[in-house]
Amino acid sequence: MLRADSEMCDHAVELCQRLLRIDTTNPPGNEREAAHLLATELSAAGLEPQVLESEPGRANVVVRHKGTGQKPPLLLTAHLDVVEADPSQWRYPPFSGEIAEGCLWGRGAIDMKNHAAMSVALLTRLSREKRRLDRDIIFAGVADEEAGCALGSGWLCDHHPELVRAEYAIGEGGGFNLNLGGKRFFTVQVAEKGFCWVRARVRGEPGHGSVPRSDSAIVKLAQGIVRLAGGLPTHRTRVVGEFLSAIAAAQPAVLQPLLAAVTKTAALPRLLKFLPDPSVARALGAMLSNTASATVVRAGNKTNVIPGLAELEIDGRTLPGQSDADFLRELGDVLGPEFELEVMRSAPPVETEPVSSPLYDRILAVLREREPDAIPIPYMIPGFTDAKSFTRLGARWYGFSPVRLPPDMRFADMFHGHNERIPIDGLRWGTEVLTDVVCGFAGS
Ligand SMILES: [Zn+2]
Repeated sequence: MLRADSEMCDHAVELCQRLLRIDTTNPPGNEREAAHLLATELSAAGLEPQVLESEPGRANVVVRHKGTGQKPPLLLTAHLDVVEADPSQWRYPPFSGEIAEGCLWGRGAIDMKNHAAMSVALLTRLSREKRRLDRDIIFAGVADEEAGCALGSGWLCDHHPELVRAEYAIGEGGGFNLNLGGKRFFTVQVAEKGFCWVRARVRGEPGHGSVPRSDSAIVKLAQGIVRLAGGLPTHRTRVVGEFLSAIAAAQPAVLQPLLAAVTKTAALPRLLKFLPDPSVARALGAMLSNTASATVVRAGNKTNVIPGLAELEIDGRTLPGQSDADFLRELGDVLGPEFELEVMRSAPPVETEPVSSPLYDRILAVLREREPDAIPIPYMIPGFTDAKSFTRLGARWYGFSPVRLPPDMRFADMFHGHNERIPIDGLRWGTEVLTDVVCGFAGS
């Protein structure tokens, strides 16, 4: 079986650095140069990549390393675009690809040019060594994930499904270590929330600003926003249950009965506020219910006129098992009958069911071999990824972009944060792990 040697890890680091030096901030994205860089690497190794543009400059690169065809393909995928970065907040410029303090710095270092670099390092090696696996290995480097996937994976799946259809897909969403209560956990993303973006409107008596009203549209809207901040009802989901039990099981034995009781109580969301780290509490809270964040408010245009209409945009996120209709019902219960609700855009949650599969087992086996002290855990993310597109074509999705972080570095701080960076040894480790997973699973 192919294992990643140091030359292959060097290649992944070098490719990641070159990708980080290309500014693919979305908007506008401009992924063309990054897609061509990868295509050039893949061509040089004897592969036949295609660069496909959904709009001028919005490039996706797709390549296939042919296997024997005994089993259906495995897709590796990474988005090439990144979110914006404010250079004044960074220790090293965000598009410098600087190597310093043991890390490679740049916007996209962990989200997720690292995964593109590791995947291309693996495919080029497989091709150079003419290794025939049981499965085709497809790599798709896609545009536009950060703005909703329409010009990237969504477009690819609509216009070129035959190029990216696979039985399994490995993309972002997990693969990093979480350090909780002195234990290390490695996440494997097997679910992500859906989204349901809603416009809510409420009406009230208009009037002159010199005579205040307590029943104006703006007052009703403000009261609605405050009620929304109180949260939505808790729902038990299988993946979150397994995630919490795995964390609880790793804690000292004396705490276990208490933790088991706490994770089952309906009051869990309220108990979270006693956690020492508010960001962990918020993240866990978002795993327990549908959520609704008020994000845009609109009302009035004259200082002395009380408007008759006020409007709110709500970023809603739905748990696996919950539909848009379920979410709208909960929203209606909180906001009340005076609010009209209109869905602006939505996509259902993604859940890999059942979690277990030969690929999942392979991921666990590789993690246990390489990190015997760490505990793999199934994981659900509150946001969305390209999984929304590729699972439409039938792929079973695992969010597993492997990276090992030191205890003082949190994935959540790096992800879309200032000073995004990846430890060089964590990237090399990821290259080894991804190679072990893919080659062990697809047979080499
Ligand atoms: Zn991402």
